Amino acid sequence: MKELLPPGVQVQGEMGIAFVIAGPSGVGKSSVISTLLSRDPKLCFSVSATTRVRRPDEIHGRDYYFVTEEEFDRLIATGALLEWTTYQGHRYGTPKSEVLGRLQRGLDVVLKVEVRGAQTIRRAGLGFPVVLIFLVPPSWEELVRRVRSRGTESEEALAERLRIAREELQHIPEFDYLVVNDELSRAVAGVEAIIQAERMKILRCA
Ligand code: ADP
Ligand code: 5GP
Repeated sequence: MKELLPPGVQVQGEMGIAFVIAGPSGVGKSSVISTLLSRDPKLCFSVSATTRVRRPDEIHGRDYYFVTEEEFDRLIATGALLEWTTYQGHRYGTPKSEVLGRLQRGLDVVLKVEVRGAQTIRRAGLGFPVVLIFLVPPSWEELVRRVRSRGTESEEALAERLRIAREELQHIPEFDYLVVNDELSRAVAGVEAIIQAERMKILRCA
């Protein structure tokens, strides 16, 4: 097919795409991502490193790399992180090893980060396409219900997460796509449609 294209035009396919999924805590990022991964073998998840305590249902190496403060310092010092941030007193960071090699091999990578991290990844000049997707709840009340129903935070931590959530919603205009997570299957279908469209995008090399 390539020989049919005029000069300067490429289609996606050889290079992977970074799909960054952000949105307030409890909106359903992990739920959406785990369904996406189970249905698309070309998608990989970028497992972040964090200093926060593991939740009972989380697995080291699948959900996060749970590391000590010293280990996180070392990741920063050795330049192993693409970006990192502090959220609620804990540090979270994206290891370069989770992202760059896979994109080079043509695999698409899904990243779950907070809003500032999404912007840092966009500005990092990865040399690969970066697509920013913001997941919103159908209502504020439903977000509060979900965050509470997960039962992983103290009331104080929960209030702080909701305060951060309010702030994060202000950054929606900086994203490429907005997906409402009302029903999980509908939100997953929305993100899958974005992924399909981005894979068929025409890249124009100036
Ligand atoms: P996040 O990763 O954004 O913090 P989670 O995926 O952990 O959010 O979801 C938070 C809670 O909301 C979980 O208990 C999850 O089962 C629930 N949840 C996620 N999506 C939906 C949905 N569409 N409808 C109802 N509950 C949902
Ligand atoms: P949680 O404690 O709920 O797993 O995550 C708290 C917040 O940190 C979420 O918004 C999540 O998306 C974000 N997060 C997780 N990993 C990373 C990361 O590697 N980098 C950044 N910037 N944020 C992350």
